[in-house]
Amino acid sequence: MRILVANDDGVFSPGLQVLAEVASGFGEVRIVAPDVEQSSVGHAITASRPLSYRPTRIGHFNGWRVNGTPADCIALGIHHWSHVDAVLSGINQGLNLGNAIWHSGTLAAAKQAALFGVRGIAMSAGALETAEEYDLLRPWAAAVLRTLLSKQNESRLNNVNFPANPRGIRWTRQSVRQYDGKVVPGTAPSGRVHFWFTAVPLEGVEAGTDRWAFAENYVSVTPLRLDLTDERALAHAQAGLPFDDAQIPRIATAPSASSTEPEDVIEAPVASSSRRSAEGSDTETGPEAPRFTSTIKFPRS
Ligand code: MN
Repeated sequence: MRILVANDDGVFSPGLQVLAEVASGFGEVRIVAPDVEQSSVGHAITASRPLSYRPTRIGHFNGWRVNGTPADCIALGIHHWSHVDAVLSGINQGLNLGNAIWHSGTLAAAKQAALFGVRGIAMSAGALETAEEYDLLRPWAAAVLRTLLSKQNESRLNNVNFPANPRGIRWTRQSVRQYDGKVVPGTAPSGRVHFWFTAVPLEGVEAGTDRWAFAENYVSVTPLRLDLTDERALAHAQAGLPFDDAQIPRIATAPSASSTEPEDVIEAPVASSSRRSAEGSDTETGPEAPRFTSTIKFPRS
């Protein structure tokens, strides 16, 4: 079995090597991981510049560090190694429970594998620090992989989260309870106001979910799917809210730009408030900040 190991914490993260070592009990392992931390980049891919990589020895594994995102790493790794059987991503330093699935780079690597038709498994834990903490997880990671890599497992995409010292393993569903997208302001040494965007669950855990399993000290294993279609909403909309095709001709006959027309004019932003400091510095604070307006003028047809 050929196993590609990636992460979003960067190629030198200790969790990456631990996962590679556990994975080597199941097959041949290669590591392809970002050269710097890419946590919370989600499923971004690098489309505006070329990607490159450098060979990097990690423990006794052949590794490559990529100047790109976790999803980029999987694309390159699968491109350069034929017949990859599974992609493992992690072990992330930080949990990926509930809504974190939306912005997790760890999950994105596993998702990218699934998009290529390769089994993808994301693994995350609370922020572990000591080698002993990682050693405690090794047998649990191996136990999870024995099930998830078996032929009987139909799921192509799985999200695994480890508590620090588990007492068992549970199949779970993703918690989708509302969470609070909290913005915390601060001040940079330069005086400029900056912000941290952090997500905090608003409600308690519901039984059977990934957050519940973690709270109960179980390893959480959630099978995921790539199809995000809301089937109920789709059926309801198709039956009760059909789109009116009669609107389409009006859109199609909108005037089109021609090469003889003058170019668009985009005016420079203008401050609509006079609250800027006398020095013209850019240290405005949130509610006091001037509002900028910009106007785009289109040529008359
Ligand atoms: Mn991370």
